[in-house]
Amino acid sequence: MTLGADDLIARGLVAPERRDELRRVAERYAVAVTDAVAALIDPADPADPIALQFVPDAVELETAADDRPDPIGDERWSPLPGIVHRYPDRVLLKPSLVCPVYCRFCFRRETVGQQAGMLDAAALSRAFDYIRERPEIWEVIVTGGDPFLLSPRRLAAIVETLGGIAHVAVIRFHTRVPVVDPCRVGPALVAALAADKAVYVAIHANHPRELTPAVREAVGRLVRAGIPVLSQTVLLRGVNDDAAVLEALFRGLVAMRVKPYYLHHPDLAPGTARFRLGIGRGRELVQSLRGRVSGLCQPSYVLDIPGGYGKSPIAASGASPREGSDEWLVADRTGRRHRYPPGSG
Ligand SMILES: *Cc1c(COP(=O)(O)O)cnc(C)c1O
Ligand code: SF4
Repeated sequence: MTLGADDLIARGLVAPERRDELRRVAERYAVAVTDAVAALIDPADPADPIALQFVPDAVELETAADDRPDPIGDERWSPLPGIVHRYPDRVLLKPSLVCPVYCRFCFRRETVGQQAGMLDAAALSRAFDYIRERPEIWEVIVTGGDPFLLSPRRLAAIVETLGGIAHVAVIRFHTRVPVVDPCRVGPALVAALAADKAVYVAIHANHPRELTPAVREAVGRLVRAGIPVLSQTVLLRGVNDDAAVLEALFRGLVAMRVKPYYLHHPDLAPGTARFRLGIGRGRELVQSLRGRVSGLCQPSYVLDIPGGYGKSPIAASGASPREGSDEWLVADRTGRRHRYPPGSG
């Protein structure tokens, strides 16, 4: 079951005095919470990291000077509905704009849960034609919205169509369903993902408390079907801007066979200023994980450059040119720097 603003109050997860506030936010941005997520919220904790991610707040209606309606430039790179083509070798395919939950920090909050939810059959077929006509497209990232909300039959049709395009080598799904509604990842959904091509699944998880036994089982069903599972985390002030929390999250993911792929610096989505921290603070957190936790637990820290210029790694580099010579200086995990010869070429 999906809970809206009034249900959050009926369940005792939000104080009744906040009803008007929640309704006002819900008029502007989509609101939804799954049962599995509601069960993780501690209503007695005003700083609960799960509630912060999903329960609407009046400050979302305030615009900050840095906010941008299209923070990562999806619009600019969309040649036709359902496709975003920013990098030469890969495209996003968005068959649906519906999500199982609506994250209060969402970078696509101006579009998800807002416009017509699904691409109709004709639009989807035009999106497939676009991919078919461009041999440089090596990978298709199926995202949205959340593609795992599609019926297994529709998912299977997408996998089959993409699998039938000779130049498409990799099909990657971006989804929050395994974390926020793990029961949905049943045998029918897993079977729908079967293909001769490489199928990857990237899940979205931000706090170690999200990694419940049911999530572990859902991920296990994907992995046992031969699907590599990756994760993406958004670095969020008040939710996971803490070295111990990030360490527990990444260790928990790796222990359930998920490879942390990206740690995203927050985007400039409207009304999300409360979640933003500085790049300097992000670098400190990432640095503190280096050397302390397994390399498997270290995602790449990236920023999607506002304006549609793509993602860039923003962690501090360990190597720098040594002034007045051709040599390099390379910092170890304690910060001590060591010389390294120039090499040739
Ligand atoms: C993030 C993104 C991708 C995928 O990038 P990777 O670095 O391969 O994960 C592809 N297209 C667009 C438009 C994106 O925003
Ligand atoms: S699941 Fe992803 S697309 Fe959907 S609301 Fe959350 S961040 Fe946005």
